[in-house]
Amino acid sequence: MAKQPRRRCKICREWFHPRSFNEWWCSPEHGAVFGIQERDKQRQRDIQKAETQRKEQTQAERRSLKIRKLAVKPLSYFHSKAQIAFNEFIRVRDSGHSCISCGRNTGAKMNAGHYRTVGASKETRYDETNCHLQCEHCNSHLSGNIGEYKPRLIAKIGQEAFDRLIGFHEPKKWTREELQDLAAHYRAKTRALKKQLEAA
Ligand SMILES: [Zn+2]
Ligand SMILES: [Zn+2]
Repeated sequence: MAKQPRRRCKICREWFHPRSFNEWWCSPEHGAVFGIQERDKQRQRDIQKAETQRKEQTQAERRSLKIRKLAVKPLSYFHSKAQIAFNEFIRVRDSGHSCISCGRNTGAKMNAGHYRTVGASKETRYDETNCHLQCEHCNSHLSGNIGEYKPRLIAKIGQEAFDRLIGFHEPKKWTREELQDLAAHYRAKTRALKKQLEAA
């Protein structure tokens, strides 16, 4: 005769001989307790599953809302985001430097000032050789103080880079995706640079 299999009761941990493969209790009483426990567990699982589904649904809705909101934004919106990120990088790169135009370091608010303006030369608006730390006075009141900017710019980046900067640039049209990438690129670059500066 085959050895009768035995297992421990899920409720009292006593050994018993099951009469079927799915019997996990030693007595009808413990079977009832086991049934209730299983039902409670299943109920908990159902609640958790519904909660997870609800969260996923909310997240998916938020994502698609964000995408739809971005889809209706004009290209200028993405340019302004990219420019903010780019300018912030320039300010961190040049932090502690004096004004590229007047050579003063007033300790007041400094800006990222373009040599070739964004309006006149769109192709160089995200060119790092074209943008340097500049005081508020030169930037706002003297419209960049370009006459004074030039010699200090040449001294800083070199004649070759300067000639390249003021030379011809292929007309460039950015897509939304390129501008989003550009903004992300400069945010990351700024973060890395800040970390580097803090460690130094
Ligand atoms: Zn039992
Ligand atoms: Zn200045």
